[in-house]
Amino acid sequence: MKRTLAERLQDGPVIAGEGYLFELERRGYLQAGSFVPEVALDNPEALKETYRDYMKAGSDVVLAFTYNAHREKMRIIGKEALLEPLNRNAIRLAKEVAKEHPTEEALVAGNISNTNLFDPEDAASKEKVRTMFAEMVKWCKEEEVDYINGETFYYHEEAVIALEEILKQDLPAVITLGLMGENILRDGYTVDESCKILSEKGALVVGMNCFRGPATMQPYIEDIRKNVDGYVGALPIPYRTSEENPTFFNLPDGGCSCHLPTETTFPTALDPLYHNRYELAEWAKEASAIGVNYIGLCCGASPAMLRAVAEAVGVEAINSKYSPDMEKHFLFGKDETLKAHNLDYRTKA
Ligand SMILES: [Zn+2]
Repeated sequence: MKRTLAERLQDGPVIAGEGYLFELERRGYLQAGSFVPEVALDNPEALKETYRDYMKAGSDVVLAFTYNAHREKMRIIGKEALLEPLNRNAIRLAKEVAKEHPTEEALVAGNISNTNLFDPEDAASKEKVRTMFAEMVKWCKEEEVDYINGETFYYHEEAVIALEEILKQDLPAVITLGLMGENILRDGYTVDESCKILSEKGALVVGMNCFRGPATMQPYIEDIRKNVDGYVGALPIPYRTSEENPTFFNLPDGGCSCHLPTETTFPTALDPLYHNRYELAEWAKEASAIGVNYIGLCCGASPAMLRAVAEAVGVEAINSKYSPDMEKHFLFGKDETLKAHNLDYRTKA
């Protein structure tokens, strides 16, 4: 038995692991900059292992890694011919991993995202965007995904076009917005206004993902929760963003004295700016307490962080058996056989 996304949302929080872009870059299989997921064709085993690691850490869904794998990006890197095989392969690999789940087969989601082409003043750009979404959604439909996640839209209208194209092909939609530092979507909608419209137009889940850490996403999630009757999703990045620097695009590292290839810590020098997993777990509890239904993490997240988030909202992960337990640690444990001369190091090390 495999419950649908709607059934799972009814039963309690759904955990969604994201962040493959940064994770596969860190593992050495993806280039920072263009950030195109060629890994689905070049190194399918590496992609499967990453899918698997997030699923084992508690994700109810294997999100096909087709973020940025749209016609425009593929054209820029000169590989437009690979567009369709890449999309289809990313979904097929996700399906193979989803079936490995030992208790209940994981959901498989297709993925579309901001195109960077959308221009509110240019009708032709809107048609182009619509065509790009339509072809990707069609491949998702043919590969039989359970739903589609349209994400990181910073124009309300682009999110609406994505939603319309998903609904046209009769698939459930999760639509999450990416809010830039100006704290409002580029076409003047607040995120809660936009989410209300998207929810009323038929998105199963609406909310936010990426760009912002818990501290600068949660206040907007609260607004969305107040304004929307349907299901709400939140997937922040695991970095310490602040009111002064609300997104990871311009997060400074006060302690860094080395030369960075770009003027920003984004995207490859963010490491010292991480939240620890306990802070992320605290956030997840808070999100769940206000009624967020679809909870996860985005770029930068590790499986151990996702597992802490899942456990914080009462979900046991496949790999919860490896969750921290310091009882037998040689310095910090409590086992009677531990040596006193070692335990001294708790304070002296
Ligand atoms: Zn992200």
